[in-house]
Amino acid sequence: MAAIGIGIVGAAGRMGQALVREVARTEGAKLAGGVEAPGHASLGRDLGTLAGLEPLGRVLGADARALFENADAVLDFTIPAASLAHASLAAETGTALVIGTTGIDAAGAAKIRAAAAKCAIVWAANMSVGVNLLAALVEQAAAKLDPHYDIEILEMHHRHKVDAPSGTALALGRAAAKGRGVELERVSARGRDGHTGPRRPGDIGFAVLRGGDVVGDHTVIFAGEGERIELSHRAGGRELFAQGAVRAALWAVGRPPGLYSMRDVLGL
Ligand code: NAD
Repeated sequence: MAAIGIGIVGAAGRMGQALVREVARTEGAKLAGGVEAPGHASLGRDLGTLAGLEPLGRVLGADARALFENADAVLDFTIPAASLAHASLAAETGTALVIGTTGIDAAGAAKIRAAAAKCAIVWAANMSVGVNLLAALVEQAAAKLDPHYDIEILEMHHRHKVDAPSGTALALGRAAAKGRGVELERVSARGRDGHTGPRRPGDIGFAVLRGGDVVGDHTVIFAGEGERIELSHRAGGRELFAQGAVRAALWAVGRPPGLYSMRDVLGL
């Protein structure tokens, strides 16, 4: 069977480079190309060299449309505005798309859903198997524990991360809210400072730490009277997200149009 051609947008970024390495070592996948925003300092450089590998004989380009036309699936870990533009290109070209970008707002989510009417899109704030299993466990725990258990979500990431709380923390919050049968938007407490008054019953709280090179730590705490349950995940490296993303791309090629999650990909 011919290898599946995978293109990478944002190929010079931290995740972009991890994705190049992952595609290069995945059987049944081949690199269809990599692009960056026009004007990027690394345009014209070999994609393999950029990612710390031997040269792969393909250079970093700036023509996203050509990439979507040539690839069977495209991986996008960039910035929200770019991911929305890429979702439109995926819809126009019928190319499967995997979006890992976080910080996309409700209007952006509506655009992604509209694009997914024309092509298969896998969109997940966290592509790791462990975090998706954690989300399933959090949903289950929230459904079983009575609402007197206060739910707090703690996350820590490296100093370069630009959005907070992390997309994963919010996804874990949504899983907890779903388990409880409430909407996260109505109960989320994001950022406490000064004289806040007592905790509002039923809130799902978020706390955010930033520093160093932490790839991503998440803990969901269920704090009851006299006991505390903590469910945690610690990411050891970006490879686990890249592995999940490539797995999602291979899964999505040939699927009917639709918006899919990592839980669909992993069958959780
Ligand atoms: P980064 O800043 O290192 O990389 C982003 C890259 O996107 C940059 O190289 C930038 O030049 C490029 N880019 C911006 N606009 C572009 C455009 N129009 N066309 C092509 N490329 C463009 O950031 P990062 O650490 O790699 O993270 C990227 C995103 O992925 C963030 O939103 C992060 O939260 C998310 N992320 C998701 C997961 C997951 O599992 N879903 C895991 C890690 C990171």
